[in-house]
Amino acid sequence: MSSVQLIENLRPADEIVGHYINGQVMADSGRTQAIYNPATGQVARRVALASKATVAKAIAAAAAAYPGWRRTPPMKRARIMFRFKALLERHADDIIALLTEEHGKVLDDARGEFIRGVEVVEYACGAPELLKGEHSKDVGPDIDSWSEFQPLGVVAGITPFNFPAMVPMWMYPMAIVCGNTFILKPSEKDPSAPTCIAKLLKEAGLPDGVFNIVNGDKEAVDALLTGPGVEAVSFVGSTPVAEYIYQTGTANGKRVQALGGAKNHAVVMPDAEMDNVVNALMGAAYGSCGERCMAVSVVVCVGDAVADEVVGKLSARVSGLKVGPGVDSCNEMGPLISELHYEKVRGYVDLGVAEGAELVVDGRGLTVPGHAGGFFLGGCLFDRVTPGMRIYQEEIFGPVLCVVRAQDLQEAMQLIDEHEYGNGVCIFTRDGGSARYFTDNIKIGMVGVNVPLPVPVACHSFGGWKRSLFGDLSAYGPDAIRFYTRRKTITQRWPPDSVEKAQFSFPSSQ
Ligand code: NAD
Repeated sequence: MSSVQLIENLRPADEIVGHYINGQVMADSGRTQAIYNPATGQVARRVALASKATVAKAIAAAAAAYPGWRRTPPMKRARIMFRFKALLERHADDIIALLTEEHGKVLDDARGEFIRGVEVVEYACGAPELLKGEHSKDVGPDIDSWSEFQPLGVVAGITPFNFPAMVPMWMYPMAIVCGNTFILKPSEKDPSAPTCIAKLLKEAGLPDGVFNIVNGDKEAVDALLTGPGVEAVSFVGSTPVAEYIYQTGTANGKRVQALGGAKNHAVVMPDAEMDNVVNALMGAAYGSCGERCMAVSVVVCVGDAVADEVVGKLSARVSGLKVGPGVDSCNEMGPLISELHYEKVRGYVDLGVAEGAELVVDGRGLTVPGHAGGFFLGGCLFDRVTPGMRIYQEEIFGPVLCVVRAQDLQEAMQLIDEHEYGNGVCIFTRDGGSARYFTDNIKIGMVGVNVPLPVPVACHSFGGWKRSLFGDLSAYGPDAIRFYTRRKTITQRWPPDSVEKAQFSFPSSQ
């Protein structure tokens, strides 16, 4: 089949987004759930919710494909990834449009997400190099030793709604090039992009059963976590679910990495260039409607003069944010994902007012002409937020930025260190000494210096500290090779023909 024909198939033609098992799109007759276009509030299509039996089928397909895939040389696996990358780029516009349609983010932002996902595919193309292992010659008399990294078997990934293409791509390209077979359980809120991308993996030459998708909710997740046959689970989502996944998965003998929620702070020092700071904060706080795990949601201004200047400049910019459907390229911010999430975020704005924070910009009254049913909330800005408030402590995951005032860098760092989350942080300064002290000592996993969204590139790994990550290894990059493989160390000697004496002392090099 040519790629041109596949383009037509790439968009979900069916009313119900099915599962993808053993190279076939499968509907099943069970439960379904609506997928909305958040800019209109209308149902775009529905998604099938897998039963335990459907998940068992996916596990069986992945298990059947595993022996052949494990034996496929890493170079051949990498060639499939090269072709997959080329196909992704050829179909980029379709995938990006689908991201905007189901998630709501503006097209430029969807493109950024897509490109960052493809970068992980590019990194995965280096599998033959990444999997080379370690070798030591002559560790003893005529003895050589080496460590190799063997695949685990069937592994699963469970992903959130906010990066429907990129976060799955953090997982399956790396898992697959390591020789595993994979089952993805995407977010049920916007599952079409990964389900369409699966067809490109097939066109790239991936054997059936190596990559599978089960769409669904808790029932499907629990079947992956508790049933036999799945060796490891990668999860990205909110902290309560991440903790549940980690505890349940490990209790069932699986290797688990579970990335959770966040409350990312940006520290503004008095020597920072304030216009650049405000520009950086606008994108980092309100981009993607604040629905990013690396979004800046708290600005800690060092000194009242800094806070007054930042709040003054920000309030003008937040009031002028261009909010509307993501397909319209003049917009800077789209809608929230769902009506339920809209109500939750709006509820946090009400709560902040009740808690005594100063609501400098109130986005609650926003209307978008022609889109009365859309889940739009205008940008909101709070000043004089204090650490005891729930709007400071809890992840809001919306276009709500909180300004906290601190007297000095020590006080700012103490606040950040005491927060339960430890995903990302950033400092704005022109002083190398402050920046170095900050990066060296702050208890956060990903740190930016004058970089508001310090999302590591594909050859580094992504992961927070504290309650933003359960498990020992981060996502993608070198950690992914370790997560998706098991080390085996082999020590080898070819004995001489003559008979040797028994040795009762513990073998050593002495
Ligand atoms: P979520 O936790 O509600 O859902 C994530 C996945 O878990 C989905 O596939 C969902 O179907 C499943 N799930 C939900 N509830 C479940 C339950 N009770 N039992 C079993 N499975 C369940 O997260 P979300 O709302 O889709 O995504 C937003 C969250 O993800 C935010 O908290 C955000 O910070 C976080 N996130 C974190 C990172 C990171 O790298 N740390 C990246 C992106 C998003």
